[in-house]
Amino acid sequence: MALRGSPPIDELALWGEYPFLPGADRLTEDLSVSVRDLVTEPRYDQVRSIGRARALAGADDPRGTAALAELANARPLERYLSFLFARLLLASTPTPGALRRWAVAEAKRAYDRLSSASAEELAEVARRLGRPLEVGMGGRLTIDLVDYVQLAVPIREADFRLAAQPLAHGRIALARARAARLLEEAVRIELARPRPMAAEVEALVRSRESAAIEELARRVPVPRARPTAGPAALRPELFPPCIRKMRRMLEAGENLSHSGRFALAAFLHRVGADEETIVDAYRGAPDFEEAITRYQVEHITHHEGGRGYEPPECATLRSHGLCVREGDPAAAAPADRVRDPICFEPTLRHPLQYYRIRGGPVVEAPERG
Ligand code: SF4
Repeated sequence: MALRGSPPIDELALWGEYPFLPGADRLTEDLSVSVRDLVTEPRYDQVRSIGRARALAGADDPRGTAALAELANARPLERYLSFLFARLLLASTPTPGALRRWAVAEAKRAYDRLSSASAEELAEVARRLGRPLEVGMGGRLTIDLVDYVQLAVPIREADFRLAAQPLAHGRIALARARAARLLEEAVRIELARPRPMAAEVEALVRSRESAAIEELARRVPVPRARPTAGPAALRPELFPPCIRKMRRMLEAGENLSHSGRFALAAFLHRVGADEETIVDAYRGAPDFEEAITRYQVEHITHHEGGRGYEPPECATLRSHGLCVREGDPAAAAPADRVRDPICFEPTLRHPLQYYRIRGGPVVEAPERG
């Protein structure tokens, strides 16, 4: 199959440029490259090195890794195999944020190509991703309304809002640049989905790549007591009882109310957590949907030019049943089961105030208090 447009792309080149497309695995069969070869053979040292660089760059900065030097200098086959290796590595990495951050980075990289692709190439990639675009007269593209809504939800640019779209007969017309941006989102969703892997393959990758897996775990920001990508160091052990309880609930897969979710995101933003870290905090929620969570977190953290929404004060949390200053009998740690004297100080009115009293750094204090 050859696609019309500039530049033209055949089946092999399509998979080389877009190695995440369903069916691209066939390329390794055609090339007679086994997973074991890819993981162990000295002739693939360079491929593995590039694959590690892809994974680690995503962990460092998923939104700024489109131009990776190792990749820019690689031959097409090395690019393709390094992608497969990175995918194997991330599927064997127990750090959940690593795969998601890599998915963002690879989607951005795909966007570089998609943003200058012909309408036909965009339509072919979209079709293979299960989000078909129709190409009309003069290369005019349209997408089904449902696909549009699913892909556009996490995109925060105002001109992607549904109300601003030209809708006719259940389809939305798209300029090529906007179609490329929607496909970037489709790629991210495709790559962020965990893929089942045979136990023996996972064991092989883990034994051969333990250093890279450790490095990924070190670089991916998670809400732990260590510096984050933000300007402050998170100190979860100093969080107030209400926030600690919210995090425990989510980690245990329990449902947290809407007001609790809002309070947690607004609080984490003010204590210096970056967006990836905040999204991670919701990963255990029973109804976790990454795209929706990301959209909601960005809505909270981008408010007022990045200052974010004000986290609710203690009185509000109490009225929503979220204050646990008397202790949480269900908590595993003894310290969480008893009443917290700081919460009973007469001047304490805000969870951020609690955090500051205990020595936690707050990026920007609330106006009141
Ligand atoms: S008193 Fe305030 S800081 Fe303490 S648990 Fe209740 S809401 Fe949280």
